[in-house]
Amino acid sequence: MHIKAKKSLGQNFLIDRNILEQIVDVVEINNKEILEIGPGSGNLTAHILKKKPKKFYVIEKDNDLSSLLSEKFNDEINIINNDVLKISEDKISKEKLTVFGNLPYNISTEILSKWIINLNREFWFNELVLMFQKEVADRIIAKSNTSNYGRLSILSNWKLHVKKIIDIKPESFAPKPKIDSTLLVFTPRKNFFELKDPRNLEMITRIFFSQRRKMIKKPFNQVFKNAKEISDKFNIDLNLRPQNLSSEMYLNLTKEYEDLGS
Ligand code: SAM
Repeated sequence: MHIKAKKSLGQNFLIDRNILEQIVDVVEINNKEILEIGPGSGNLTAHILKKKPKKFYVIEKDNDLSSLLSEKFNDEINIINNDVLKISEDKISKEKLTVFGNLPYNISTEILSKWIINLNREFWFNELVLMFQKEVADRIIAKSNTSNYGRLSILSNWKLHVKKIIDIKPESFAPKPKIDSTLLVFTPRKNFFELKDPRNLEMITRIFFSQRRKMIKKPFNQVFKNAKEISDKFNIDLNLRPQNLSSEMYLNLTKEYEDLGS
């Protein structure tokens, strides 16, 4: 059956055998429960199956591709024909999952943010092996004091360890995207900073990074009524720029905001 890629669903299928083999070697698959997001035409799916997972779930929004996958793989995979943004991943299995995904680029940060925000200490996955457009991956792994550092780096670093595996060229996909891609692997942090509401971290980083070249004096005053007291407490120079504060400091400031009931 000929598959016509749908642009609206971010369909760029991975066709490079070498890369597919590298991806399934990043983490252990044998005898593990696997979840693949957006299996598409099933190229990565087939490579994962060769490693003999114990159980294999896939989430694919496209109805045509879901039928195709069901014909191709029969009962070797459990197909969830739905939108990944609408699923409660923690309900899929009682065991912790190992997740693979060549994510649709238009919603990749939304998927990752949703997972991080909902993640509690009973985390539902062991590892995430995910492909992003390179520019997004660069923002996820960025360290403070660099130009790529920002909200996404702080949010990811809060609950996850992140490691870059490889960059992947457009030629490895069909149809060929205009951008480079990067494969990252994430593992949950056992002890992460406890916040009452992750939306406070999102709010504070949004305010600070809305003017990333300006000094933090203004956002500080916007967030805290007693800005001077708080900046003294944490020894923060208000002439710094948002990128100069570590992700730990943004977590400290969020907790302070929550404790003050500001
Ligand atoms: N994994 C395949 C590969 O590497 O060849 C395809 C990856 S393609 C970049 C993204 C896949 O995600 C497509 O199959 C697309 O239909 C699916 N998709 C797009 N939006 C989705 C959503 N909201 N929920 C689940 N799957 C989605």
